[in-house]
Amino acid sequence: MGNAADDSSGKGARSLSEFELIDRFFRDCGARRADVALGVGDDAALLNCPPDMQLVAAIDTLVLGNHFLAHFPAESVGHRALAVNLSDMAAMGAKPAWALLALTLTKADPEWLAGFARGFSALARKHDVALVGGDTTSGPLCISVQLLGHAPRAAALLRSGGRPGDIVFVSGTPGDSTAGLAFELGKFAVNAPAGITEEVAAYLRNRFHFPTPRVELGQRLRGHARACIDVSDGLLGDAGKLAHASGCGVRLAWEQLPASSQLVAVAGEARAREMALTGGEDYELCFAVAPENVQRMTRELPPDAWGYTAIGVLDEAPGAVVARGGTVMDFSHSGFDHFAGGHEP
Ligand code: ADP
Ligand code: MG
Repeated sequence: MGNAADDSSGKGARSLSEFELIDRFFRDCGARRADVALGVGDDAALLNCPPDMQLVAAIDTLVLGNHFLAHFPAESVGHRALAVNLSDMAAMGAKPAWALLALTLTKADPEWLAGFARGFSALARKHDVALVGGDTTSGPLCISVQLLGHAPRAAALLRSGGRPGDIVFVSGTPGDSTAGLAFELGKFAVNAPAGITEEVAAYLRNRFHFPTPRVELGQRLRGHARACIDVSDGLLGDAGKLAHASGCGVRLAWEQLPASSQLVAVAGEARAREMALTGGEDYELCFAVAPENVQRMTRELPPDAWGYTAIGVLDEAPGAVVARGGTVMDFSHSGFDHFAGGHEP
C-alpha cells in the first residue's frame, strides 16, 4: 500500500505502477508450492501448514547505509535479504517454506528491482521457498523479509539446550565474509606478489555478497545437536549467546578454529582466526553436541562432507573465552575494530 504522500501524484497512477511492479517482479518469484492455497494478489495469503508441525517464524530487515550500500549489486541485496532469514530457520532446525517481502523504495528502478528479484528468487527456489505476499511502499530504501517454515513439534533446535561438557562445533569458515566486505570497502586490496590474487579477492567478496545459509545441515542436526545458533554477529559473541542461553560458558580452542586458505592468504593465520572469531555476517551454524552423541553425529553427518569443525566445549564457568594452549586470550581489543561499523553511516 503506497504512502499517503504519494496520493498527490494521483491515486490511480500510483496504484497502477505499484501493481505493475508487484506483477512484474514478485508475482512469480521463488518456488511454486502446492501448500500455497492463495499467494500474491489478494489481501493476505492462505497457507496449508502440515499437521503435527510447529510454525517457525523469523524476520530480518536490511537498511541502506546500515546493512548494505547503494553500489552493492542488487542481486546480492536480494540474496542476503532472504539468506539472513534462511540462516535463522537453519539455526532452529526448521524447514523454510513461505516468505513475505516488505519493500520500501525511494523509486521504482526496474534495473535494480530486476537484479534484486533475481537474487531473491534464485535462492528461494534453491530452498523451495515461495514468495506469498508482501508490501510495497515509498520511502528510504529498506527491505524486510519474513520467513515462515516448520519443524516437527517440540523438535526445533534452541539456543538453550546446551550443557557443560558439550562439544561445540561451527560450520564453514567464518571470517571470510568480513574479509570480503573489507575488499568491498577498499580496506583490503589485491596484491598478487603477497599472495592476494584476484581469485582470492573474488572468493572472499562472494562469501560476503552471497552467503550460504546452512539450511540442510540445520535440519539434519535435529536429534544430534542439543543447542544451535547462527553466526551473524561474530563466532565468539554468538557462541557466547548460545552458552549464556544454556546457563553455561564456552571455551573455544584457538588452534582448532577453521580458516579458509583464502582468508589465511589475505590476513595470515593469526589475523584469520581473529577475524573468524570477531567478524560478522557469516551465516554459519554454531552448535553444541553431548559428548556421547558426537560419534553417531560424525558417522551420520561426516564432517568433511558437511563442512563443520569442533572448536571447543561448554563449561560451568560463565562467559566466552578463547584458549591458546593453557592460556586464555584477551579479545577485548579485537582486530575487528578496524572494520567495526565499516559500512555503518
Ligand atoms: P493491500 O493494500 O490489500 O495490502 P497491496 O497493494 O499492498 O494490497 O498488495 C497487493 C498484493 O500484492 C498482496 O497480495 C500483497 O501480499 C502483494 N504484495 C505487495 N507487495 C509485494 C512485494 N513486494 N512482494 C510480494 N508481494 C507483494
Ligand atoms: Mg499491503
